[in-house]
Amino acid sequence: TLGLIALDNMGNITVGVSTSGAPFKSPGRVGDSPLPGCGLYAEHMVGAAAATGDGDKIMCHCPSFHAVQLMKQGSSPNRACYTVLDDIIRRTAPDRCFEIGLIALNVKGEVGAASSVEFPYTFWNQGKDYVETSTQLPN
Ligand code: ASP
Repeated sequence: TLGLIALDNMGNITVGVSTSGAPFKSPGRVGDSPLPGCGLYAEHMVGAAAATGDGDKIMCHCPSFHAVQLMKQGSSPNRACYTVLDDIIRRTAPDRCFEIGLIALNVKGEVGAASSVEFPYTFWNQGKDYVETSTQLPN
């Protein structure tokens, strides 16, 4: 899944994802990606988040909604992503955590990420003529 969060200079924030879905999926399967709160979520004046990974497991945890709710309560995007992942790990057991990568952006333009596997993401800011690339290591 490719997740994209965009913030304009008027404070409007949006999120979208594009995915090929799970490998060898059953015809008609709907994964986490199009489900609000699971694969993506945005809230005006707060922030947005997107997830990638094992969608059948991801959709049991609503990680994008959870991350945005934490940002609404004052967490930074990074803290929100880490808290969501810690919560999932606590509920699934660390040695059995499924594959998940989570990114978040708030309306201040701060970014965050957390993942259970090595997970690359990029960040571009208006006025910069380059894209910053970062690799999130497993939590
Ligand atoms: N989350 C997607 C799905 O399960 C797959 C992916 O992120 O690559 O449909």
